[in-house]
Amino acid sequence: MSPLLSIERLSVAIGGVTLLDDISLSLDRGQILGLVGESGSGKSLTALTVTGLLPLIGGRIASGRILFDGTDLASLGPAGLRKLRGGRIGFVMQNPMTALDPVQRIGEQIDVVSRLHLGLSGEAARARTLDLMGQLRIPEAAAVAEAYPHQLSGGMKQRIVIAMALAGEPDLIVADEPTTALDVTVQAQIIQILTGLVRERGLALLLITHDMGVVAQACDRVAVLYAGRVAEERAVDPLFERPAHPYAAALIGCIPREGMAEGSLKGIAGSVPPATQFPPGCRFHPRCPHAVDICRTERPLLRETPDGGLVACHLAERIAG
Ligand code: SF4
Ligand code: MG
Repeated sequence: MSPLLSIERLSVAIGGVTLLDDISLSLDRGQILGLVGESGSGKSLTALTVTGLLPLIGGRIASGRILFDGTDLASLGPAGLRKLRGGRIGFVMQNPMTALDPVQRIGEQIDVVSRLHLGLSGEAARARTLDLMGQLRIPEAAAVAEAYPHQLSGGMKQRIVIAMALAGEPDLIVADEPTTALDVTVQAQIIQILTGLVRERGLALLLITHDMGVVAQACDRVAVLYAGRVAEERAVDPLFERPAHPYAAALIGCIPREGMAEGSLKGIAGSVPPATQFPPGCRFHPRCPHAVDICRTERPLLRETPDGGLVACHLAERIAG
């Protein structure tokens, strides 16, 4: 069976600048794919492209394609994309406040999704809303449904956004940093809820995060993005045991530990350059402790690893050796 989501050699440009460069990823039902990388890697842009929101930010698919359950997203017009998003594809954004309308009651905001995408009547939609809220372990659902967003905690708001994403009975959930704004205990609860949905209902989850701890806890596979390209794509266990790409190794080395500056990469200074200044050759070369001459001029192509992963590094075999 073909994968539920297949991103094939996708390049995305905004205003003539290529921000995603030849990305290929795939995701099956019942699977969680983590998408990681520092900010500027292209994670959120990938999420916006998969959910059909690219035109909203002035972006376009320059080449390649995205197949969702066999349908090329490019073949769907704006109305088709709207139907897909909220219907078969649920989107959970980083900041729940951008997803919630501050002046509309919580219950109504969830109701509208199943009215729109499942054609439910007002009453049936509300019953479904309360049921979903119960599944997301929201206490006193009927009272919360009457509340406004500002009356709820951050963790509760994020649960509401997940309920909205689920209300259209999606096959795929795209979650962009769903726990970043939350404290650690609530983070763990939200991740548990999301992974539970995948395991129990066979949903597919594209989980965008910069937190390798979350990846280790939740994901089956992980794609490491750097400067708009895939650096490495592997099953989680082998990636953590023996990362083949120096950037993946650096990310794993920087799972936050006490006393470490937030966002710092172990032994690697600097940050992802803006897209107009991506260097030639391997885009990671200015920061790579292993870089040699060829890295500065020749782009490393993705090659298969013995365990069925992919890595784009001239020296991967030697480094993983
Ligand atoms: Fe480092 Fe070269 Fe590999 Fe790029 S190709 S990650 S610069 S060793
Ligand atoms: Mg982002």
